[in-house]
Amino acid sequence: MIYDAAVVGAGPAGIFAAMELVKNGKKVFIADKGRLIRDRQCPIVAGKVKKCLNCPSCAIVSGWGGAGSASDGKLTLTTGFGGNLEEYIGCGALKDMIASVDAAFVRFGADPHCYEADGEFAREIIRVGARKGLRVLPARIRHIGTDASREVLNAMYEDLAPRCDIRMNAMVEDILIENQRAVGLRFQDGSEVRARCVLAAPGREGASWLEGLIGRLQLPIASMPVDIGVRVEVPDSVCETLTREFYEVKTLYNTPTFDDRCRTFCMNPSGFVVPEYNRSHDLVTVNGHSLKNQKSNNTNFAVLVTKNFTEPFRDPIGYATHVARLANMLAGGGLLVQRLADLRTGRRSNASRIRRGMVEPTAAAEPGDLSLVLPHRYVIDIVEFLDALGEILPGVNHGDTLLYGVEIKLYSLRLELKSSLAVPSVEGLWMAGDGAGVSRGIIQAAASGVVAAQSMTDSLK
Ligand SMILES: Cc1cc2nc3c(=O)[nH]c(=O)nc-3n(C[C@H](O)[C@H](O)[C@H](O)COP(=O)(O)OP(=O)(O)OC[C@H]3O[C@@H](n4cnc5c(N)ncnc54)[C@H](O)[C@@H]3O)c2cc1C
Repeated sequence: MIYDAAVVGAGPAGIFAAMELVKNGKKVFIADKGRLIRDRQCPIVAGKVKKCLNCPSCAIVSGWGGAGSASDGKLTLTTGFGGNLEEYIGCGALKDMIASVDAAFVRFGADPHCYEADGEFAREIIRVGARKGLRVLPARIRHIGTDASREVLNAMYEDLAPRCDIRMNAMVEDILIENQRAVGLRFQDGSEVRARCVLAAPGREGASWLEGLIGRLQLPIASMPVDIGVRVEVPDSVCETLTREFYEVKTLYNTPTFDDRCRTFCMNPSGFVVPEYNRSHDLVTVNGHSLKNQKSNNTNFAVLVTKNFTEPFRDPIGYATHVARLANMLAGGGLLVQRLADLRTGRRSNASRIRRGMVEPTAAAEPGDLSLVLPHRYVIDIVEFLDALGEILPGVNHGDTLLYGVEIKLYSLRLELKSSLAVPSVEGLWMAGDGAGVSRGIIQAAASGVVAAQSMTDSLK
């Protein structure tokens, strides 16, 4: 059996590529090293164990739905966020692609309500922010919620399963290349699948695997910045005037002292702060999500500082993971938490001061001192950014605000690809999604899968 297309990875990029290829009448094979949605259950999230067991396939980031299935399911429907696809296909095409991918999410059960940010209230917030040098970026958001997101992705599986071949628990070891042409996949167990073209969409979980492939095929890559910061947790009341309207407030800020670029990221009204187990680097970092059916009294979001390292330094991932490892070391293997007042005055937070404060933590974390972990300029950047944010979110810079450390975003690998997302030097090979550095979120990952699939379909004619 020779398939028309073989897809590595059943995250949003792989799923949407497969849907497009099947719609175009192609014989498709999808492989993912993780499990189906119903079998994905992290023992820590289930409360069975306290420490990561290093499961052969991590239920949080691997399996049907990819990292997206365990995610908050917040779809950002504005072109300026969630990836670089615009650089490949242009703004107009990206807008159309986002609209069509979003419509598919709604068809499969996502909440039809969408948060818009285009009225007089949004304009007023933009004006108020600008007075402090804060750029407020209005975005259209659809919130599916972590729990509902699983149902949507499962509905996509039920739809695709009868129409293509899906192999789960199947680690792709290599892409078969013959005469500079991709001709199929080889699995860890030695078995092979042949196909006329191949899409690699392994996500961030597969970034190391992709790095190996890129090295072997000597594909050109561009370096990317890293983001390092903290997760901020405040009472809902601090953010709700804005989150009721926008769901998420996206802002950019250049700090006065160091002129570093900071941004807010992934805001979760009535949400929960959660640990994220980074298996490739053996680390625990912090993240946040909000559920459709279970609410806290707090809002959390990330404050991230973006750094572009210059020559001769070439290991931004090494730098960020080193910082995260320090936090784990001080916290006994998990997350650190500190009150903003304690960070400002240079003292360690302790359990009793946190208990007396206004914010009841939603995550288990060791009270500590983030200034022993984050380099000085990051601490200053974070404090200055929170002070500026206080203009549009009064109370966010109160002493009781909780800061969890550390949150890192590693985007250091970016492949040089054609506008169709085809690999220039290997016939029959396409790449899409977060792993190739094309996207950084569900919507652009899914859209990049469709872009690749349309080009694959053309090549099969
Ligand atoms: C905790 C968390 C919360 C998030 N919240 C949001 C959010 O609210 N909104 C948003 O837009 N984005 C969010 N994201 C990011 C979003 O999930 C990703 O941007 C998106 O899933 C990327 O899609 P992808 O298809 O490129 O890769 P992924 O979703 O990572 O899927 C890749 C798949 O490939 C598989 N794979 C990798 N290597 C191999 C191999 N060698 N063989 C076989 N299979 C392989 C993996 O098992 C995985 O299932 C979140 C991410 C996390 C981790």
